[in-house]
Amino acid sequence: MSGEPKPPVEAAALAAEAMRHLWWLRDAGVREIGPAAAPPAPEKGYSPSDKGCGSEPLLAIRAGMGECTRCKLHGGRTRLVFGVGNPSAQLMFVGEGPGADEDLQGEPFVGRAGQLLTKMIEAMGFARSEVYIANVVKCRPPGNRDPEPDEIEACEPFLKAQIAAIRPRVVVALGRFAVQTLLRDATPISRQRGRWREYEGVKLMPTFHPAYLLRNPAEKKPAWEDLQLVMREFGKASPGRGT
Ligand code: URA
Repeated sequence: MSGEPKPPVEAAALAAEAMRHLWWLRDAGVREIGPAAAPPAPEKGYSPSDKGCGSEPLLAIRAGMGECTRCKLHGGRTRLVFGVGNPSAQLMFVGEGPGADEDLQGEPFVGRAGQLLTKMIEAMGFARSEVYIANVVKCRPPGNRDPEPDEIEACEPFLKAQIAAIRPRVVVALGRFAVQTLLRDATPISRQRGRWREYEGVKLMPTFHPAYLLRNPAEKKPAWEDLQLVMREFGKASPGRGT
């Protein structure tokens, strides 16, 4: 026995199969075979593990926002701050817009005002992870200035969609921008707080913004009274005082 060593049986079978395929292509009229087409570049994806995206509807809202450029705030943001928390929360908090810490971390209410809000939530008998937290505008206004009407208008549909997706039993609107945006009521927050309102069939409690409470600690008592009304709605016993 001499000559070329025979290829193993499997390799020979594969080569025969490849040849049959090439003949088939030739018979079908193919004269040239190029490199395989590159798959399309994947679009930036969002996943249920992204902050505030833990349900299909919320994920769809986030994907709909995309890398948003609908208002001028996009130019100064580090991260778009969509929301955080339980996608089927019974209790939702709505603030104004991200500050510096939120912009860096991509999560609402993580700075000083956020720490106070977390204490308020816990004093009410909830864990922060049990509730959902979002803002009227999702990108940080420069220097923490107030959000402007065109910025609120551009972002408002996403907040409304978030509330519709979560369908909480109660929304706590924190401060003037949340209250005015959701209720279309420009009455000062000092006159609106502590009175149940309704937003699209959801009970809404207006109260002071935690950043305002940090500057005006004497207002913590009335704010706590507002939160006690919310606790009563959930059948939670009041421990007497808040933060
Ligand atoms: N203030 C807000 O209104 N929202 C935040 O996320 C942080 C501070």
